[in-house]
Amino acid sequence: MVKSVATLLGIAQDGGVPQAGCIESCCMNQFGGPTRHRNPVALGFTAVDGSRHLFEASRTLSDQLRIWSNSDGGQLNRIDSLWITHSHLGHIDGLLQFGPEAWGVKEIPLYASESMIQLINESPNLSHLFTNGHLIPMPFIDGKEIQLGPGFSITPLRVPHRDELTDTFAFLINTNSTKLLFLPDHDSWDETLSLYSQKDPRSWFQSLFVDIVLLDATFWSGDELDGNARNIGHPVVEETLELLGRRAPSDPRIIFFHFNHTNPLLDESSAETAKVRAMGWEVARQPMTFTL
Ligand SMILES: [Zn+2]
Ligand SMILES: [Zn+2]
Ligand SMILES: [Zn+2]
Repeated sequence: MVKSVATLLGIAQDGGVPQAGCIESCCMNQFGGPTRHRNPVALGFTAVDGSRHLFEASRTLSDQLRIWSNSDGGQLNRIDSLWITHSHLGHIDGLLQFGPEAWGVKEIPLYASESMIQLINESPNLSHLFTNGHLIPMPFIDGKEIQLGPGFSITPLRVPHRDELTDTFAFLINTNSTKLLFLPDHDSWDETLSLYSQKDPRSWFQSLFVDIVLLDATFWSGDELDGNARNIGHPVVEETLELLGRRAPSDPRIIFFHFNHTNPLLDESSAETAKVRAMGWEVARQPMTFTL
């Protein structure tokens, strides 16, 4: 049976790794070069019918397209739809790559919330993407499943996050056999769980019947950024692990991603990476593929 595949095309928080202006060892090695390169988060979903759907529009698009086609064997210049969670830096800073200065695509459907579509319409440097037919606005509704093709669909789920300009969504990718939740950004477990009337992350995931969760792990602890990490939002991984405990056989796979450059989970040999794995959960690497 032909399966669909999701490819993780980036694992970093919006600033990417190395992050501009950082001279610490997380980003710069002793020779003055980059410690590592990691793209902002994005996911490529290749459906059973061969159609290809991209989640997030990052400035590293050209590298991500290469990673994606290496993974799924698909045509590098084929995208059947584009999906955006919210308007923060790394999730949208590749939008202009679809315009005439770069790729200049024709009529790719852009699925986003009403407020995200409105923001593009009202931005003088972005609105031409719609008016010149590069992207076709496809506003979605919170919780309403969108059937994209035979046997696969996407359900946008609103999550509380610093919603200055637009609201924020997670995406549930549904195939006949598997459900994958893509959740790069939310502010706190308290707010997200109360929105869905759930008592803990595990019960929320069970209510969604998810098999695989790509989960916001921006910061390991509130101590990052000289203690400012605790004021920015995003549940820290330490707290998420406390709420989850060890993985049980009935639990979904949870893969932590969307790492700030300061997050020790970027380091394969860190004690924090070992701890996540010892508890039965996973640490995202670029690239990583999931059969759905
Ligand atoms: Zn983000
Ligand atoms: Zn750094
Ligand atoms: Zn954000």
